[in-house]
Amino acid sequence: MSRILVAEDEWGIASFVLKGLRANGYTASHAADGDTALFEARSGQYDLLVLDLGLPGRDGLSVLRALRKAKVAIPVVILTARDDPATLVEGLDAGADDFIAKPFRFDELLARVRTRLRVDHLPTESTLRFGDIEFDARARRVLLDGAPVELSSREYRVLETFLRHPGQILSREQLLSHAWGRDFAAGSNIVDVYVRALRKKLGAAVIETVRGLGYRLGDGSRR
Ligand code: CA
Repeated sequence: MSRILVAEDEWGIASFVLKGLRANGYTASHAADGDTALFEARSGQYDLLVLDLGLPGRDGLSVLRALRKAKVAIPVVILTARDDPATLVEGLDAGADDFIAKPFRFDELLARVRTRLRVDHLPTESTLRFGDIEFDARARRVLLDGAPVELSSREYRVLETFLRHPGQILSREQLLSHAWGRDFAAGSNIVDVYVRALRKKLGAAVIETVRGLGYRLGDGSRR
């Protein structure tokens, strides 16, 4: 059974989320301020954190940054009334896995929670499959419909980043840090160049553009 921490200071919303999660078989606990949320999330007792951005004391983004700085890899779904792209980008850069804008329906939240729990429990497999693409990390080989595709080592790493984060919006900065290393200083538009190259080699639908935010693995259909 997955354990979920809900950091939300508005009791009405918190109680609605806690009740819904419990009704769906999760163990759900509550934190009403940022410092409690950080303390609890660092305990290692939770599988996922639902994090409101506007929290008393330490705000949600600061909780998230502190968790990632401490190398706590817990998946984080942000709840925010501020769904403008700048806030979303800030959240993604701080290490959020997903977002949900208030007001929301419980089933939307549940869908995000299920996806994030599933993705984070995927083993680090050496062979990844996506549509017609087979990615063999051990042999460093990519097959499309069974035929080998020549990728540069950087294209290969960008593709691997997408395949290991299915369903997740990846900002250009996240892609840079995964595929080039944290200290890479070039402008993030280099990511666009690699996305174009991958689309050309593997089909336009392999990577989807999420306007204002970045990219995500597409639906795999090449038609
Ligand atoms: Ca709040």
